[in-house]
This record gives sequence, C-alpha cells and structure tokens, in this order.
Amino acid sequence: MTVETHKETMGFQAEVKQLLDLMIHSLYSNKEIFLRELISNASDAIDRLRFDALSNAALLEQDTELNIHVAYDKDARTITVTDNGIGMTRDEVIENIGTIAKSGTREFFSSLTGDQQKDANLIGQFGVGFYSSFVVADRVTLSTRKAGMQLDEGVRWESDGQGEYTLEMIEKPARGTEVVLHLREGEDELLARYRLTSIIKKYSDHIVAPILMKVEDEEKDEEERVNSAAALWTRSKSEISSEEYNEFYKHIAHDFEDPLAHVHSRMEGTQEYILLLYVPARAPFDLWNREQRHGIKLYVRRVFIMDDAEQLMPGYLRFVRGIVDSNDLPLNVSREILQQNRLIDAIRSNAVKKMLGVFSDLANKEPEKYATFWDQFGRVLKEGIAEDSSNRESLAKLLRFASTASGSETQDVSLETYVARMKEGQDKIYYIIADSYAAAANSPLLEIFKKKGVEVLLLSDPVDHLLGAELHEFDGKQLSSISRGEVDLDKIQDVEEKAEEEQQTVSEVQTLVDRLKEVLKEQVKTVRVSTRLTTSPACLVVDEYDMDPSLLRLLKASGQKLPTMKPILEINPHHPIILKVSNETEEQKFSDWAYVLFDQSTLTLGEQLDDPVAFVNRLNGLLAGM
Ligand code: ADP
Ligand code: MG
Repeated sequence: MTVETHKETMGFQAEVKQLLDLMIHSLYSNKEIFLRELISNASDAIDRLRFDALSNAALLEQDTELNIHVAYDKDARTITVTDNGIGMTRDEVIENIGTIAKSGTREFFSSLTGDQQKDANLIGQFGVGFYSSFVVADRVTLSTRKAGMQLDEGVRWESDGQGEYTLEMIEKPARGTEVVLHLREGEDELLARYRLTSIIKKYSDHIVAPILMKVEDEEKDEEERVNSAAALWTRSKSEISSEEYNEFYKHIAHDFEDPLAHVHSRMEGTQEYILLLYVPARAPFDLWNREQRHGIKLYVRRVFIMDDAEQLMPGYLRFVRGIVDSNDLPLNVSREILQQNRLIDAIRSNAVKKMLGVFSDLANKEPEKYATFWDQFGRVLKEGIAEDSSNRESLAKLLRFASTASGSETQDVSLETYVARMKEGQDKIYYIIADSYAAAANSPLLEIFKKKGVEVLLLSDPVDHLLGAELHEFDGKQLSSISRGEVDLDKIQDVEEKAEEEQQTVSEVQTLVDRLKEVLKEQVKTVRVSTRLTTSPACLVVDEYDMDPSLLRLLKASGQKLPTMKPILEINPHHPIILKVSNETEEQKFSDWAYVLFDQSTLTLGEQLDDPVAFVNRLNGLLAGM
C-alpha cells in the first residue's frame, strides 16, 4: 500500500492565533483542564460513533469496545489521549481544528478590548476546548481516521500553536483520534500517574465511556479504569456533589465557568425520562444570533442521540443547557420525528415548568444570583411573554424593570413590588417605553407622576415593545403606557401641595388651544391641555390605540412602510412660556412659537427633526426679540 506522505503547511484563521495567545494567558493558573477538554472531545466522538452505528453497524469494524486511553511517556515528555470514536476526515480536521467555525466569532473578536487581562476573562464563554492543549504543550500532534474510511485515509495534524499547522495523509489502522501533547519546558510534574488520575477523577469522573490507564505496576502490561461513572444523571441526587454537577455542565455546555443553577429530576409514570438542566452564569456572545445552538442533548436509554434538540426547549429558553434522557422514544428518532411527537411536547412543557421553577427559586432565595441571571438573560426571557402564553403569569412574576422609584438603570423592580407600593387611588401599572434608559428617565411625560409620587416603570429594551403589546395586566391591574391616551391621576393626592400658580381663565386657554391647532394642523391630530406636565411647557403623546412612538420609530428604521400617525400636542397652561405665547398677538411670532413648541417636544422623544435649520432659525428669531 502506498500512502501519500505529502505534507502541507497551512495557516490558522487569524482569530485562532489571537485566541491561542489569549488563552495561554487566561488558563495558565488552571492549566490542568486541558485534560478535561481532550477527554470531553473523546467522549463526544464516542457518543457520535455509537449513535451512527445504530443504523450502520459496519462502522464499528472489529473494534466494538468504545473507550478512552490516557498515557504518558517520561522520556519523550508526552501525554497522549486516544479514543476509538468517530474520528475526522481531512476536511473535518481543517474545519474543526484550523478554524473557529462558530457563528458570531467575528463579532466576538471585535468586542475584545486589546487589554489581555480583561479579554482573558471573556475567553471562558468561548468554546476553546481543543486549543487549551497549548497551555501546557508547545507542540500538539493529532492523528485521526474517520469511522468507515480506508486504513490509509488517516490524517496527521501538527502545530506549535504559532500560527501555522501541517497536515499529511497517513496510514492509521486504529479508528478514531489520538492527541499527543509535547509538553513545554517546566511541565514535567504532569508526567506522573497519580497526578493524571487525580485530574481525571476531579474533572472527568462523570464521563460514561471508560477512561483507561496502564496499571501502576511496571511489570504488568494491563490497563485499569480510572473513572467510576455510570451516566451522572442516572445516579440519585443525594450521591452527586455540586462539583460533579458543575464538571458535567462544563462537559456538555463546552463552558469554562460554573453554572448558576441546575435542576435534576426523574419522571416516572406514563412516560419515563430524566432531565438535568442548567442555567449558565454568562450569556454566550452569540445569544442574539437566531441560529444560535439550543443547548439540550437528547439521549434515549443512555444512548446519545443528538445535540441541539431545539424541540425540547422554546426559543426564549435557548440559553438553557443540559440533557434529556427518555426511556420511551425510539432509538432511531430523527429531528423530523421530534417535531411532531406528543412525548416530546410533554417533556418540553415539563422542562419549561422546571426551569421557571428554578428561576423563581433564585429570585426568592438568592436575589444576588437572580440579579446576575436577569442581567444576562432577562431580555431573552421577556420574549417568553409573547411566545408562551400558557406560562405568561409565572413569567410576568420573573420580570424586572428599571423604575422611577429606584432611580437607576438597573432592572430590579418586579411587578409584585410595584403593585405592593401603588398609591392610594392608583389602579394601573404605569410604564414608559423609550429608545434608551436616559430618554425614558428624563421624559417630560413623567412630570405629573413625579408630582403625585406615582412610580413609573422605565422600559428601553427593543423587546419591551413585545411586552407592551402582549402583557395587558398583572394581578388584576392594567398595564398602561403613559405615552398613550390621557392620564387621570385626579384621585391621587399630590406629594406636596404647591402654592396656587398664576391661573388663566378657561376661555383664554381654549383660545390658545384653538390658535395652536390652526397653526399646527398639518403636524398634529389635535392640541389639548395636559394633565401630566408640571415643569415642561408642552409634550407629544399618541392616542390610546395608536402605536407607541418608539415602536413606530423601530418599525420605520427596519424599513417598514407605515401610515403616518399624527401625535397629539399637550400644553401646560401654567408654564411661563405658554402664558407668554398665549399673550402673543403678532401672528408670525405666534406661529414661530407654535412650531418651536412642537419641535422641542419632538426632540424630547429622542427623535430627529424634519427641518432642524428651520427650528434653529425660529428659535434664534424669538430669542433675539426677547
Ligand atoms: P467543542 O468541543 O466545544 O466543539 P473543541 O475545540 O473542543 O470545541 O473541539 C473542536 C471540534 O474538533 C469538535 O467539535 C470536534 O468536531 C472536533 N474534535 C476534537 N476532538 C475530537 C476527537 N477526539 N474526535 C473527533 N472529533 C474531535
Ligand atoms: Mg470540546
């Protein structure tokens, strides 16, 4: 047999080099995890082969016991991890090891600051598995042959992690993958049996495939199993330590950080299945990517079936990671079957309930963790209000908002808290939606609410529009946008009664309103006296059943054609400028005032003016005449 030994040198994708540099920095203090990562990959490869072999037994060749070997060589100063799993073709090696094929990679790298120390912390959220070898090795050799390929269709990949790698075709009788780490100077302490076994026990005990090492005795050429493992999720909760739960999470989620919380539950009865689901501590950088992987692995009777079983978790819980192991599904279940399977629907709906329970426990018992959770995933969870009407009530309790009562951008006020401190005579939950926190917090529409001491929730995430449209009430109280319709806070006492201000007669005000309407008839639907302003002269609102202005802006920006909706101009009859305008007899000046009031109200909404030059000219003219 002639094997082509032509060796090619190829360059890493630019990001890989950058990633390697950062990683060596960030992982050095925890360098032993390289072994966890290599074993995790070997275990995945074995799972995949076992699954493929269900429909094509020939893939197993004569080599039917699937396991992982770990060996070391003191003289050569190498550590070797071998598996007889699925293996890789040449193209797969290039794709999986030479590039970072994950979507969103570019965005991730452009978000790096260049400060190594800071950036190193970001690395954890990025699956850097295989590359962690370079923390302890200055040369890594990976040899692999894909299940089902000819013996001479093996591939050897080698790199010193400096930006290039070599690739050659080799003869490789054993199916699967072997990774040899040539240790860096000074890493010899890793070349000891007790050291390696203790790393394996610490991080990889839960791996289902046997992890084998040569026995202690030099004379004997035997191997023994180092990990204890039955599938972790099949063991009883009381026997599993939190470290074991955490390490299992890191394996399945390809994460480097501990999770925030988990739920482990075994269902018996009409359907039998086990759930082990986790909440990560940090949102992945590609959380907003619609193609983002859903993180549930499906097993059937302990056999791995598939990753990313999106049918098992709704979109708004796409950040949940974990496994579902069913006793009732057929082993040959496909994605298509999952899509319309009643067993799956039942599992999903139970899994969702369990997760909502976990969130609510965090909220009630570990508020600090809940704050982290909300900060990372709150915006995704809000999608659930629209997506999952059957759990709307439990979801609504989990929502957190910025509010005029807390005076900070942090979203930490729940609807329950809001309701508990509603003022006497208040029957609605008030909120405002704007494009940013600052625009919401400084809106003139809040003035009357401040005066009355009535709390207003300050919403500024794009997804909040969904909330506004879908969540109409909470605890029997209507949710009401203060940018729409009229406000009626008459029943509520002022915080402090103000001295009577200069009053105009009703007829004077009516004349002013009519004059403004006439001038601005192209711009506004109507003009009316405001019940919500105390310190601003005027503001713009929309009708009760019209769209919120910021939603309108969002839709326009996304290129949608919408009917033009005219706003309503509200004036504050007690404001000195309004008093002045009302006494203006010169028609041209009055018209200038009217436009200035309209334009400045537009500006406070955070909107652009159609004709900013005209605004400035009018304003300057009025100032010059003062
Ligand atoms: P991740 O495991 O998060 O995907 P890694 O960097 O650990 O990231 O591995 C990258 C990819 O390389 C894996 O997804 C897999 O496709 C491939 N790979 C790594 N090790 C092995 C192996 N032992 N057998 C087969 N494929 C492997
Ligand atoms: Mg990995």
